[in-house]
Amino acid sequence: MSSETPKTGDMPVEDFRKYGYQVVDWIANYFEHIGENPVLSQVEPNWLKGNLPISAPENGEDFGSVLADVDRLILPAVTHWNHPNFHGLFSTSTSSVGVFGEMLAASFDMKAMLWRTSPASTELEDVVLDWLRQMMALPEQFEGIIYDTASVSTMHAIAAAREKAGFGIRDKGMSGRADVPLLRVYCSEHVHSSIDKSVITLGLGLRSLRKIACNERFEIIPEQLAEAINDDIENGLLPICVIPTIGTTSTSSVDPVEAIADICEKHGIWLHVDTAYAGSTAILPEFRHHFKGCERADSIVVNPHKWLFTPFDLSVLYCKDLNALKDAFSLVPEYLKTSGEPPVKNGMDYGVQLGRRFRALKLWFVIRYFGVEGLQNRIREHCRLARLFASRVEESPDFELMAPVPFALVCFRACPAGVDDLDALNERLMNDINASGEAYLSHTKLNGKFTLRLSVGSIRVEERHLTKVWDSLNRHLAEGGGA
Ligand code: PLP
Repeated sequence: MSSETPKTGDMPVEDFRKYGYQVVDWIANYFEHIGENPVLSQVEPNWLKGNLPISAPENGEDFGSVLADVDRLILPAVTHWNHPNFHGLFSTSTSSVGVFGEMLAASFDMKAMLWRTSPASTELEDVVLDWLRQMMALPEQFEGIIYDTASVSTMHAIAAAREKAGFGIRDKGMSGRADVPLLRVYCSEHVHSSIDKSVITLGLGLRSLRKIACNERFEIIPEQLAEAINDDIENGLLPICVIPTIGTTSTSSVDPVEAIADICEKHGIWLHVDTAYAGSTAILPEFRHHFKGCERADSIVVNPHKWLFTPFDLSVLYCKDLNALKDAFSLVPEYLKTSGEPPVKNGMDYGVQLGRRFRALKLWFVIRYFGVEGLQNRIREHCRLARLFASRVEESPDFELMAPVPFALVCFRACPAGVDDLDALNERLMNDINASGEAYLSHTKLNGKFTLRLSVGSIRVEERHLTKVWDSLNRHLAEGGGA
């Protein structure tokens, strides 16, 4: 069997088959033994760069040696998001079946811009997003579109809200105009930084963003939002969008969407709900109370790549009127005009991107393989494990909970008696655990206090993994994580 790189054309199919089986074996071993890796890569910055040639090979290389370099060079520089003890940021992971979706999507390599160029992607996206809508108990009017990330979904929602404000900004822009007042976007002080980036990107500027104070549970105070909006209107500013979050990034707190919807309705303001992280829990009836008011939203973002075991990237934006996105973005140059077919949905009309990846395939695989019940069971178990961890924190004299646990994120810190600088202690504790490779924790600051965050969300996580973190925390503390 030849392993030579051919002078023209693609890899011979017999080589593809040979290496393809090797790659699948490699991935199967990786998933099987993932827990044996240090969670965080142990390499120093520039280790990988220093070990790679500075220019491309002149002649093609045997793919076997390329694969060997994955073990030798790439693997040590991987931080294992799929590790069951990855608890930092939000613990997200792919299922194996999701990987199959990526393999096939890459094989088709379609650019889903027009229905004509990609009927499978266009229609499967509609069908699978309607499945997810039903799973989340969202009303029928909501229609979804897939983007890469929540940052991009939210940016598109705000762009639609900006266009709806009626200043013809897509045509006339905002610069050099005296007739456009300062447009305001509102969110809580705990909002994800993607909202800040959206207003930067859309030319609204950071000064357009008004962050509203939260209560002691880190939830937006609706009375303060109402006051801020009234105050802005009185001063000639124009509120265009309010963004509550269900599952904020720091603490997973839940903004009161129902009360916020009342305010938005009163003033005719676009309501965009960021439920990038916690949206997956809406598939569980016992979590639906958190989503009260979502049915009144103009748009909602949820990330299956966060907590629905679908490989990065796949974010869904649901809109009550998807045409609002079209109004903001649709533009069809001559070379993309099609004729001779009934009206169809063309993905390129709903955003900045022309070509779009066939992302729906992996979500379809995941939902079909696990079924709704299988997905519910996994998320429910993660929430149980997080509550179990939280109860250990509450029962220990050396630790304290720093925020409620509505989903599967625990905010806590060590607080042993007799230590003055708890911020320094907790930072050291986190760094010690992360450096050990046993687990990965991240942090936030709550009321000025350094707070550890433990997120439970890996498809591979079991109770023993949480026990390992708990033991490790106590051991590091006893060994002088505080000293
Ligand atoms: N919104 C919330 C609440 C998040 O927690 C995050 C990321 O953690 C985002 C938005 C951004 O997600 P993405 O990486 O998909 O842009």
